[in-house]
Amino acid sequence: MAKLYFRYGAMNSGKSTALLQAAYNYEERGQLIVLAKPRIDTKGDQTIVSRLGVTRPVDFTVDLDDDIYTRFQAHRAAAIRDTSRDVSCLLVDEAQFLSTQQVDDLLRIAVREDVPVLAYGIRTDFQTVAFPGSRRLLEIAHSLEELKTICRCGRKAVFNGRSVDGRFVFDGDQVAIDGVDVTYESLCAACYLDESGDTLATGRRSAVPLDAGLELGPDPDFS
Ligand SMILES: [Zn+2]
Repeated sequence: MAKLYFRYGAMNSGKSTALLQAAYNYEERGQLIVLAKPRIDTKGDQTIVSRLGVTRPVDFTVDLDDDIYTRFQAHRAAAIRDTSRDVSCLLVDEAQFLSTQQVDDLLRIAVREDVPVLAYGIRTDFQTVAFPGSRRLLEIAHSLEELKTICRCGRKAVFNGRSVDGRFVFDGDQVAIDGVDVTYESLCAACYLDESGDTLATGRRSAVPLDAGLELGPDPDFS
């Protein structure tokens, strides 16, 4: 049985580079892969762009309401028809932007179709709240692997500070694409709290009272 892998990190942790390296490793052994990514990321549109300058086109992009299972199966069938070889791996970039349903389908592809799925993504947004796709991947992936990067102070970075015109901001939409509307800096928890005035998840969820026991509040609103 194949597995679903989630390789996550902060911004600038080399996720796309690691994905393209994994793709290269498969192909060096003569194996076929399928590359996919959500369409919401406008950075590379139809390509995967690594910060080292390596780019490569994806086989398909998915919108939030697309059936990723069916799309994958269509590409797999075409590969078998055209090359007489099966697909060895599905690689997904920017997996934080997938829906919960699409991540569930990634698990089904791994388990039912017996094709390993490697998903790469950012764990949390600029307010330290999990993206829907990442949250679901953290829940159901067989294997979790953190890709590490360094904060400006030298500690491991775990959060993503968003800045507009050189100033950190802690309010705004969950998605604002790097380099288009805003820029991001990977920060450790200490530097994040220094910049945010000790605030986490600004306005995103109410604090759980100390006497609440196991009764957690409603799910955070990701809309
Ligand atoms: Zn730091």
